[in-house]
Amino acid sequence: MSAQLDNLLDYSVPELIQWCGNLGEKPFRAKQLAKWIHQSGMDNFDSMTDLAKSFRQNLNSRACIKAPSIISDNVSKDGTRKWLFDVGNGDAVETVFIPEERRGTLCVSSQAGCAVNCRFCSTGKQGFSRNLSTAEIVAQLWKANVLLREAGERVYAQERPVTNVVMMGMGEPLLNYDALGPALQLMLDDTAYGLSRRRVTVSTSGVVPFMDRLSQDCPVALAVSLHAPNDALRDHLVPLNKKYPLRELLDACLRYLKFAPRDFITFEYVMLKGVNDSDADAKELVRLLQGIPAKFNLIPFNAWEGAPYECSSNNRMRRFAEILNDGGFSAPIRVPRGRDILAACGQLKSASVRS
Ligand code: SAH
Ligand code: SF4
Repeated sequence: MSAQLDNLLDYSVPELIQWCGNLGEKPFRAKQLAKWIHQSGMDNFDSMTDLAKSFRQNLNSRACIKAPSIISDNVSKDGTRKWLFDVGNGDAVETVFIPEERRGTLCVSSQAGCAVNCRFCSTGKQGFSRNLSTAEIVAQLWKANVLLREAGERVYAQERPVTNVVMMGMGEPLLNYDALGPALQLMLDDTAYGLSRRRVTVSTSGVVPFMDRLSQDCPVALAVSLHAPNDALRDHLVPLNKKYPLRELLDACLRYLKFAPRDFITFEYVMLKGVNDSDADAKELVRLLQGIPAKFNLIPFNAWEGAPYECSSNNRMRRFAEILNDGGFSAPIRVPRGRDILAACGQLKSASVRS
């Protein structure tokens, strides 16, 4: 009976201005609307008191503000909070909030499943289901802000609890570029979430052509999932390496740096016992990254059921970090958060909804 409603979480601010323009509304009205949606977390047009009644009526008959429903909501003993969102047809995606003293980081998913199939990643293991829409990506941030605010979560006198976004949830963000673009624009837009480019990070397994496009369209902070010091091992761990081998990937990093908000690239490196964690591996990494302004992020491998790997020992990780430090690279070992609720890196999977 009722026509399909447009979900306004799908539109960047310029797109919303255009959408409202089609109803005869001026750009500043669209901006007021954007603030209600993204800054106040409002989903009810009738409560947007400074919009004309006729505009609100139009909105009610044509549009909605809708996040996917929540299947589960868990809080870890370390304060990390994880939501599982139902995106339909048995697919679900996870979003994780990591509170720290002076920032609140939201780890956002970009796809249901992932086609890259890295061997150590539980999302990869589950295979690819589909790309998320812009609305489904933005809804994770929109809903997290609403729920965290309800819970009284406040970071360092900030009104909005989420101060940083990392595209490090499920999926390869650069393989869903069309939906990612407007979502990133909204994160940066002052009329929406107003985060600075250095507070929004896209993590990629190395989709070279889209790294170049991102550098032109929306150069936010970049994290590259490296995981190996040479092509032979990386081909095995991150199969996408066969398409975009290390030399091409590192050249793309150098090109990206010219536009990046920071003067270094972050390289993520998962520590796998006996696989990529030897002294020789660390030395080879130092040689590989000579001349590239880089920081490492060493991620202790987080186990999942049936995983074919183990995490390196603490001593091994410390020694590995030391060699990178001696080679001139910062290489902190990341402290895993939310392991007890399976919210740590690489533990995210939507299969739980099916089992
Ligand atoms: N697809 C993107 C972003 C999501 S994964 C990417 O691969 O970069 C975020 C980070 O977690 C990546 O560096 C990924 O390699 C790492 N990761 C995946 N599985 C992991 C696991 N089981 N333990 C630790 N880190 C893992
Ligand atoms: Fe996909 Fe990233 Fe997991 Fe690789 S590590 S399978 S790219 S989500």
